[in-house]
Amino acid sequence: SERFSKLAGVHQDKLLGGLLSARFSEGTCLSRYQSVAFRKKMPHKPSSYLISRLRRYEILHEKCGPHAESYNKTLEQLKFGRQPESSDCSYVVWISFSGLGNRILTLASAFLYALLTNRVLLVDPGVDMVDLFCEPFPEVSWFLPLDFPLKGQFNSFNQNSPSCYGRMLKDNVSANLHGLKPPSHVYLHLVHDYDDQDKLFFCDENQDFLQKIPWLIMKTDDYFIPSLFLMPSFEQELKNLFPNKETVFHFLGQYLFHPTNSVWGLITRYYQAYLAKANEKIGIQIRIFDSGSGPFQYVLDQILACAVKENLLPEISRQDSITSPSGTKSKAVLVTSLTSWYSQQMRSMYWEHPSTTGELVGIYQPSHEEYQQTEKQIHNRKALAEMFLLSFTDVLITSSWSTFGYVAQGLGGLKPWILYKPENQSAPDPPCGRAMSMEPCFHSPPFYDCKVRRGVDTGALVPHVRHCEDMSWGLKLV
Ligand code: GDP
Repeated sequence: SERFSKLAGVHQDKLLGGLLSARFSEGTCLSRYQSVAFRKKMPHKPSSYLISRLRRYEILHEKCGPHAESYNKTLEQLKFGRQPESSDCSYVVWISFSGLGNRILTLASAFLYALLTNRVLLVDPGVDMVDLFCEPFPEVSWFLPLDFPLKGQFNSFNQNSPSCYGRMLKDNVSANLHGLKPPSHVYLHLVHDYDDQDKLFFCDENQDFLQKIPWLIMKTDDYFIPSLFLMPSFEQELKNLFPNKETVFHFLGQYLFHPTNSVWGLITRYYQAYLAKANEKIGIQIRIFDSGSGPFQYVLDQILACAVKENLLPEISRQDSITSPSGTKSKAVLVTSLTSWYSQQMRSMYWEHPSTTGELVGIYQPSHEEYQQTEKQIHNRKALAEMFLLSFTDVLITSSWSTFGYVAQGLGGLKPWILYKPENQSAPDPPCGRAMSMEPCFHSPPFYDCKVRRGVDTGALVPHVRHCEDMSWGLKLV
């Protein structure tokens, strides 16, 4: 049928305007080709320069990836601590760390950094990455082989590790950075608790030193791309890659993250059973960072106040005489939350009362996992499925500070209404505001001017890097 062929992506631009490589067989990863049929048609197109850089990256990855001759050679240096001779391959190794939303953002950040520095990205499979994501690069895996020599140290790498770059800088305060013998590997600590020395990663002169090191091992839980846009050495390249700065995660995310067939099954079955037929699909992502057990009435009040004020959902009427003739518009609301209480309240509300507009409102929530269980596979599959389902909605309401919501908005190309963070257990006024852009927020950026070596407001330097709507000290691309 026509519907099926549309969902199968037959009439669609399957390769997303050239963003995706044509060198894959479809059946191994259905989501790569089918996602496009579920998303709103995007006004944005990837730049031809981005496309050509991705194809070039794929060739580099094939040449340098796991078990290639150059890989084995560069590994020798690491194993025997040999002085790196000029090798044609160098690497960023991404350590699997933190919640799934965070990991998706950090992986995109590490990939862009690899692209900018001509490195190859290798991914620590952690406990669930293989289960969740298809291979994004043709022919050669992006997963780090299990026998990688430093693998056993990934969990214990921290700011005190001798190979930590920030610690190296502290230990050599007086020494000229460039006088240091470049080691075969360096650990980059870019976790939110990092210190002033770790943050020097974002200075050009430190990049000159890092460039000589074949293995950079990176641990991060943050979307650090906004700060790369403040580095003069990357400026021109980033301009060419992303003429529209708001689309960085949108394109990198659509290029890198393709759910495996088992996760894709969770996504498509749910979509087709509950969402496909509605005239409008509204996503509400509820993530509460307040202490205390919850659920909270004031959060429900805030969500409803936002949805009604912004005309996303109709008000309910106390008059029972309103009926909905057949052919009335229907709205499907996809709620994601660790608890089911909010959606239960909303469902009862729209069942027990008619809406003032006569519109029919259905409330759907795929799971309620009660608490975060980062190490459990089906739990993470559901989390990924829900991020994708949210990205397939027409309008989105998200919670402040949540990377889970950032992933959904970025993949979907949606500017969400952000629920402002409640203070003192009460709903803020206004309850929500429209995001400036679909980009994620970098929660722990440096506030340092590398040139003059003193503090500076990095959210006020250029028009396209601003403070975030949901976190006053964060930075985002607009
Ligand atoms: P963040 O903490 O909101 O920035 O998002 P993360 O994804 O990094 O970490 C939160 C984790 O908690 C997710 O990865 C899930 O494991 C779980 N989680 C939080 N909210 C939800 C939800 O709405 N649905 C599901 N299935 N899991 C959630």
